[in-house]
Amino acid sequence: MQSRTQFLSWPKHLLDVDGIDAAKIQAILEVAQGYIARNRAVDKKHSILKGRTLINAFFENSTRTRTSFELAGKRLGMDVINISASASSISKGETLLDTALTLNAMHADAIVVRHPSAGAVQLIAEKVNAHVINAGDGAHAHPTQALLDALTILQKKPRIEGLNITICGDIAHSRVARSNIHLLTKLGAHVTVVAPPTLMPAQVERYGVRVCDNIRDGVAGADVVMMLRIQFERSGSTVIASVRDYFHRYGLSHAVLATAKPDVLVMHPGPMNRGVEIDSAVADDLMHSAILDQVEMGVALRQAVLEMMLSEHV
Ligand code: ASP
Repeated sequence: MQSRTQFLSWPKHLLDVDGIDAAKIQAILEVAQGYIARNRAVDKKHSILKGRTLINAFFENSTRTRTSFELAGKRLGMDVINISASASSISKGETLLDTALTLNAMHADAIVVRHPSAGAVQLIAEKVNAHVINAGDGAHAHPTQALLDALTILQKKPRIEGLNITICGDIAHSRVARSNIHLLTKLGAHVTVVAPPTLMPAQVERYGVRVCDNIRDGVAGADVVMMLRIQFERSGSTVIASVRDYFHRYGLSHAVLATAKPDVLVMHPGPMNRGVEIDSAVADDLMHSAILDQVEMGVALRQAVLEMMLSEHV
C-alpha cells in the first residue's frame, strides 16, 4: 500500500484526468481499493473528514454520480448538502458564478459540480476557495467516471497495461469516452473506438486510438467492451436514422460479444438504453457484465478522491 503522504502534490481541483500522471492514478486506485471492503461491512463510517462540508451542485440530472458522492462524503464523516438547478436560485436568473460564490461563502470545503456546458466547472474552480471536483461538464470530461472504470477493470484483470479496450457509441458527445480515452491510454491499454461517422469526433486517431465504424470489427479480441448511450441531449435527435439500424451496426448482442476474448468484461456508465446500444441479455449477463460493479466502485473511488484532496489540508 502506497503512503498517503504521496498525495501532498495532488492538484487542488479535479477537473479532468489529463493533468494527472500515471503514478498518481495508481495511487488513488490503491486508496480506493481499501474502501471497497469497508463499504461491504455493516459499519461503513469513518471520521477521516469529520467536520468538513461537501456541496453537490448538480445543474444537470444524475442518479449514480450524485448519490455516490453523497454516500462517499457521508461515509468519510462529512456534512453533505445537495442542490440542483431546478431547486436553486439559478431558476430565478442567478448566474452560475454568483451561485458558486454563494456556496463558497458558506465555507464549503469541497464543491462537486455537474454542468451541461464544457468549461463551466473550471470557471467555478477559478473563483472559489473550496476544492472543486468535476462531476461532468458537457461533452468535455468526467474524471471520476474514468477512474472508477479503471478501478472496476482492476477487480477482474491484473493490470490495464496491454488490455484491448473497445469503447462503442456516441464518442463525439460523451465526456465518459473522452476521459476514458485519456486515462486508459495513459495506463497502457490499446483503445479502440467504434461509432457511426455522425458520432465520431474528427481526427480522433490523434489520441492514440484505433478507429472502427462497426461493432463487429471493434469488439473482435477485446478484453473489455464499454458501451455508451447516445447523448441525445447534446447531439440532437437526428444523429441516427433508426434505432433498429443503429442496434444492428453498433449495438452489443451476445452474437457480437462471442468474437471478444472469452473472459471479456462488459461495461456501461449508465443510464443504459436497453435495446438501443445494448441488448438486455448482455447487460444482465453476470458472466460478463460489470455494470453494477461500476456503481459499487463509484462510491469507493469517490471516497478516495475526497480523502486525497482534502486530508492534505488538515
Ligand atoms: N452518466 C454518464 C454521464 O453523466 C453517461 C451518460 O449520461 O450517458 O456522462
